[in-house]
Parts: sequence; structure tokens; C-alpha cells
Amino acid sequence: VARLHAVYGASGAGRGIMPLLRAQNGNAADIECLYVDDAADGTLVNSQRCLTLEQFLNEPVSERKIVLAVADGAIRRRLAERCHAERIGFLSVVAQQHVRMDASIIGEGAVFSPFTTVASNVQIGKHFHCNINSYVEHDCVIGDFVTFAPSVCCNGNIQIRDGAYIGTGAVIRQGRHGAPLTIGENAVVGMGAVVLGDVAPGEIVVGNPARVMRRV
Ligand code: UDP
Repeated sequence: VARLHAVYGASGAGRGIMPLLRAQNGNAADIECLYVDDAADGTLVNSQRCLTLEQFLNEPVSERKIVLAVADGAIRRRLAERCHAERIGFLSVVAQQHVRMDASIIGEGAVFSPFTTVASNVQIGKHFHCNINSYVEHDCVIGDFVTFAPSVCCNGNIQIRDGAYIGTGAVIRQGRHGAPLTIGENAVVGMGAVVLGDVAPGEIVVGNPARVMRRV
């Protein structure tokens, strides 16, 4: 093979992204999809090779690309810096069952799992994870290293800042044009929360209606 396409992280998130990457590559004979993980010990993961970053860098190939596949956005940020320093290009992975509407701008390294939707005029930063069944509605602005667990309902005119984590099944009320609802940097929205107003940076909110549980 001449090209290596790696999924960085061989745990839950990574094993959910690998099949999407393989499908995206079709049956290209010159591309090997494999895992990179700092804990790699030489054993295969779901029948695919799993290397350390150093081993990955030492493979004699013409192209090396990687998608960051750890759900924790702070870890993705750290891994992105390492990969960038090693001049490894980033892949985006988009499931075949993803729906993309008009005029969105999406940064490098994004992952869109099956049955996700990005509606029109959305702006998304780098290394976004949009897990199964989640949507981003019209006019949202999403920062870098943001993570959506499955089934997040992110309605129109919402702004989500860098590093925020939105838990499974959370519902965020739509903002208004010119007055978006804002989820602050590194905030955490708990599973099933129904968010009716702004969430400050670093806050953890839970419940319906969502209330502050504590700060990160
Ligand atoms: N990992 C890594 N380097 C890091 C942090 C994590 O290679 O700096 C790997 C770790 O060894 C594990 C995976 O990433 O295999 C993270 O798995 P975890 O189950 O914690 O998270 P998830 O897959 O659910 O995002």
C-alpha cells in the first residue's frame, strides 16, 4: 500500500469511526485503514493493525493521514497538536447516511456518524464530532473540538464555543437571529438536558429545564 489512513484512538469512538472511514475509501487497493493508539501493543483491533504514533510515522508510505477519534475534546486538541507537529494531514469522515444542506463551512477533521444532519448556513470549527442521530440546525456556529454524543438536538441560531461537550439526547432551544443561544467554552451539557438559556464557559448543566450542577 502507498497510503495509510489512520483512526487515532482504538476504543469506543475509534471503533465506531473505522467502518465509516473504510466505506468512505471504497475499496481503494492502495489505501490501508488502520488504528493509531498510544496504548497499541501489537494486537489487531477488529482485524486491523493498531500502531503507536511512532510506528505509524516509520511506515514507508507516500501518504499518511489521520482522523482524531477520541470523544474527549481536550484530548483531541492535544493529539491535533502532536499530529500537526509531525506534519500529518487530517481526514474528515462522513457517513454515507449523513445529510448536508446548503452553504455550510466545516473545518478539518470532522466526523459525522450515520443519520446526522447539518442544515443550511452552519459554521463548524476543527475536529468536530457529531455522533449518531445528532443534528445541527440552520445558522448555528460551532467552535473547535466540540463533541456531540448521539441524538443531540441542536436547533437553529445556537452558538457552541470551543471544547464544549453535549451529552446524549440533549435538546437545546433555538436562539434568535441576532440573539443566539450560547453554550460557553468547555461547558458540558448532561444527557437528556433541556437547555433553555445560555450556558456559561466551563459550566456543567443537567436536567429539564437544565440547571447548573457545577463548574468544570
Ligand atoms: N488515547 C491515546 N492517546 C491519548 C489519549 C487516549 O492513544 O493521549 C487512546 C487510549 O489509549 C484509548 C482511546 O484513545 O484507546 C480512548 O479511549 P476511551 O475509551 O477513553 O474514549 P472513547 O473511545 O470513548 O472516546
